[in-house]
Amino acid sequence: RKFGYAIVGLGKYAVNQILPAFAECEYAKVTALVSGDIGKARRLGKHYGIEESHLYTYDNFDKIAQDPEVDAVYIILPNSLHADFTERAFRAGKHVLCEKPMAVTVEECQRMIAAGKKAGKKLMIGYRCHFDPVTHKAIELARTSIGKPQIISTDNGDNTDPTDPTYQWRLTRALSGGGALMDLGIYGINGSRYMLNEDPIEVQATIMPPSDPMFREIDETIVWIMRYRSGAVAHGSASFNVNAMSRFNLQGTEASLRMDPATSYWCNSVSHCTSGDTHTWSTPMFTIPALNQFSAQLDHLAISVANNTPLAATAEEGMQDVRLIRAMYQSANSGSRPVSTDWGDWRKTI
Ligand code: NAD
Repeated sequence: RKFGYAIVGLGKYAVNQILPAFAECEYAKVTALVSGDIGKARRLGKHYGIEESHLYTYDNFDKIAQDPEVDAVYIILPNSLHADFTERAFRAGKHVLCEKPMAVTVEECQRMIAAGKKAGKKLMIGYRCHFDPVTHKAIELARTSIGKPQIISTDNGDNTDPTDPTYQWRLTRALSGGGALMDLGIYGINGSRYMLNEDPIEVQATIMPPSDPMFREIDETIVWIMRYRSGAVAHGSASFNVNAMSRFNLQGTEASLRMDPATSYWCNSVSHCTSGDTHTWSTPMFTIPALNQFSAQLDHLAISVANNTPLAATAEEGMQDVRLIRAMYQSANSGSRPVSTDWGDWRKTI
């Protein structure tokens, strides 16, 4: 039988990206829904063939322990709710796929990892780009044909509509844990570490003054630097007040890589550039066959559980990004002074 997922939180990402992606899964299916709005759960349940007995609210969620159709819980809630629901899912004896950012604090991440170990269940983080074929091509090019990686620049951003509920919790620190950096800058942080296969030893960040009172609790626009022991440096920005921005550039001693868009849902692109010669691979140009990142991610946990194979997007990976984000906020809140992040390069050992 297929690996069954309960989807917790039926907001934009769950409804528009994740639920439709099950149609292209080979090993996974959706078997339960969890929502604060039972009417919405019923409507979606009808559409996806899920019976009333597999619909849950946030209050009776723990009953999922008795649901044999559910192997894993996929948490797609505001960031500050990730830790509690992960712990509840582990107590119910289920595996967990939790959206990025893994949690709001490092302590929460540690609690989540400990709960997974205690339950003997897997914890994966929703880093969908790890399943994007264009990202894989970029990694291959970065490792084989740019010389020594020297400089990364990465920018992620989007506009904010304060009337849309999907943005409201993002503007509320108690629910989001932070602004543009937590929500979008995390792509650049994870991508830089993944691309260089190295962890930064020092970070520095500056939060720009908000342009509108709606951004008073969180970072509207932030810029940062990450320094690496190898001599490479990554600099990045994230903003809640720009039109769709998703760029990743890697400059090596012999060539550069340019990705724009780098982290979109469907149409990423990577160019390998030397002076006078550019070669581009992209899904829209069909130089790389399209692969549904969301379905591949859902199948990946199913395969990892069935065969006990390692996860591509681990909880340790998720926690390292949260640690770096917290260090960047610490720097920004102390006059942009450098903050040491030399906690040991665990990437080299995994
Ligand atoms: P959303 O606001 O559209 O959905 C969140 C859901 O949580 C809603 O159904 C809302 O009703 C529910 N909810 C439960 N308790 C709530 C509370 N106390 N306050 C507010 N809402 C509450 O948000 P989204 O864009 O779907 O994001 C959800 C999570 O998914 C976030 O962690 C986000 O970072 C992540 N996400 C990841 C990607 C990706 O590409 N990997 C894309 C979008 C969102």
